[in-house]
Amino acid sequence: MGRYSRVVVKLSGEALAGDAGWGTDPASLAQLADEILSVHELGIEIAVVIGGGNYFRGRMADGWGIGRAEADNIGMLGTVMNALMLRGVLTARSETDVRVMTAMPMQSVAEPFIRLRADRHLRRGLIVLLAGGIGQPFVTTDYPAVQRALELDADALLVAKRGVDGVYDSDPNLNPDAKRYTDLTYREALAAGVRVMDESAFVLANEQGLLMHVFDVAARGAMRAICQGEDVGTVITA
Ligand code: UDP
Repeated sequence: MGRYSRVVVKLSGEALAGDAGWGTDPASLAQLADEILSVHELGIEIAVVIGGGNYFRGRMADGWGIGRAEADNIGMLGTVMNALMLRGVLTARSETDVRVMTAMPMQSVAEPFIRLRADRHLRRGLIVLLAGGIGQPFVTTDYPAVQRALELDADALLVAKRGVDGVYDSDPNLNPDAKRYTDLTYREALAAGVRVMDESAFVLANEQGLLMHVFDVAARGAMRAICQGEDVGTVITA
């Protein structure tokens, strides 16, 4: 057991894409599945909010000449594909029961998201993959990640980033002197103008006092280490 008994992980679709940056990559999926299972093995309840940017994002609507709401619906469907793919890989590597729950009804492939049912799955030790965001357009999966972590009363939200291992005072890809914060408050992050996730998500997390860890998705063992109490990446508190 670690310092947390229940965590929600935010995985962006890109994390499943590997170097191609698009679609899914078997090696990335296998690695992510092992990271999730390594947390689950500690006896920690784990739910994953999964993105879909490796297929389509609502903000690409203009380039395709389609409406934003339609584009967002397409983006949400991408998150369902990712969740089913991840469930497939998780169940191939473990005996654990893995449930996909979607915000919009897709009953023949997944369960509808019902808070109390998700809570029950988690209490029984099942891994829960949350797809479809909140089922509404005009947000990305950042907002649902915070919102689900709150409604499932998670001890922390673990935000897996691609290409960066925490929160920096300036862009580490542009500024070699950029410094990584080990911890900071939401207020400090907003004042410093550092962008961790969509502002609406960030504001909700601050208002509700959610604890958030930001770490590099490619760093092996990071998720487990965070749950065991190590200060990997950056921790953000209210
Ligand atoms: N999306 C949405 N409502 C939600 C969650 C997601 O409309 O509640 C759409 C939105 O268009 C978003 C896309 O799904 O761009 C894919 O999610 P996201 O961009 O968050 O994926 P990630 O960047 O995490 O891979």
